[in-house]
Amino acid sequence: MILIMGQAGAGKSVQGEALVQSHGYTWISTGVLLRAAMQEPEVREKMEQGDLLGDELVEQVVADALTNADDPGKVILDGFPRTLAQAKWLWDYTTAHQLPITGILLLDIDFNTALERLLKRGRTDDKEDVVRHRFDEYQSVTLPMIEFFEQQQIPVHKIDGHGDVDEVHERVLTELGL
Ligand code: AMP
Repeated sequence: MILIMGQAGAGKSVQGEALVQSHGYTWISTGVLLRAAMQEPEVREKMEQGDLLGDELVEQVVADALTNADDPGKVILDGFPRTLAQAKWLWDYTTAHQLPITGILLLDIDFNTALERLLKRGRTDDKEDVVRHRFDEYQSVTLPMIEFFEQQQIPVHKIDGHGDVDEVHERVLTELGL
């Protein structure tokens, strides 16, 4: 299992999909699953404002997706974990199910490049103020969780996310030794 992390607009989904195409990974994106599954207005509203949803809800979505995956060992997890509690949950889950986390891909991007990409994409949560909010959330909540994985000796591969899709994909393959 590989975890793909980075700020909104860093290219997580695009690079996850590229690894699906080139190396047959199964891509599991909590954002995609949640957008598809969540009909309750309060949940939708939170997502549209860029607020994180509750840990338990998202953990359940991930557990279901891993249970349904053909090869849960060959999965790219995109958008999860996003909090320290989720990270600890995933650590326990993967240990209990013998699904080792082989590495973390950390896509690095500056705010202006990310904003430019997101405004082009134009999802309902891609407005400038919401993007800024998601950036702030990433800094404060997500970064401590990366430290947690470092403490567990999981390799963190920091990759420059600037440039076009193919360029970044090549960097990913080189860094992962694929
Ligand atoms: P994404 O497509 O990964 O940018 O996720 C879109 C939105 O889904 C986020 O802004 C959150 O509202 C929600 N979401 C996705 N993944 C998580 C997660 N791991 N924990 C909490 N909320 C999440």
